Amino acid sequence: MRLVLVGPPGAGKGTQAQYIASNLSIPKISTGDIFRANVSGGTELGKLAKTYMDRGDLVPDEVTIAMVRDRLSEDDAQDGFLLDGFPRNVAQAEILRDMLKDWSQALDVVLELVVDDDEVVRRLAGRRTCSQCGRIWHVEFDDKKDDKCDACGGALFQRDDDKEETVRHRLEVYQEQTAPLVSYYADEHILVGVDATGPVEEVTQRAMDAIRPYMG
Ligand SMILES: [Zn+2]
Repeated sequence: MRLVLVGPPGAGKGTQAQYIASNLSIPKISTGDIFRANVSGGTELGKLAKTYMDRGDLVPDEVTIAMVRDRLSEDDAQDGFLLDGFPRNVAQAEILRDMLKDWSQALDVVLELVVDDDEVVRRLAGRRTCSQCGRIWHVEFDDKKDDKCDACGGALFQRDDDKEETVRHRLEVYQEQTAPLVSYYADEHILVGVDATGPVEEVTQRAMDAIRPYMG
């Protein structure tokens, strides 16, 4: 099965990607992993990407696309894959479609993890990080009433990334980028949305049930 996973920050996408890929016995391919592998492996594309990153610039689309193409050409991806982090926009979706077409392949399904904004804010803005050991606690889910780490006694703080205004901004950026992508795949009749709230195993189960009809 060839699957793309999309979802907002805080939807538990990384965890679901892992479980779903393992349930389907397909490789989980995330752009983050591809980047790290190319950079640490010292490939030509990795070296090129690093020149941009070292300058603090965004890695151009062509470089990302070339890395994705290389990864999807590998043996383990021939019978299916789960893509996480690519495509990010409609232009990349069209490139992916053409890339797969060249190999007589096509996406089977695009799975969207759906969580409403307030729930994402509740999950992320409640996080507190230990300034000593780095452990993350949640004011609500861990019932944290003081500002001390239960593991080491260190002082807890809220990372800038987890501040409500930052989370809301990231959600806006996500919606702006992803809404057109989601409607593109809806038009292709391969989009399924799954409620991503509740226990991790339940979300995985819902996702598996939703994608089953698309298995070739
Ligand atoms: Zn600690």
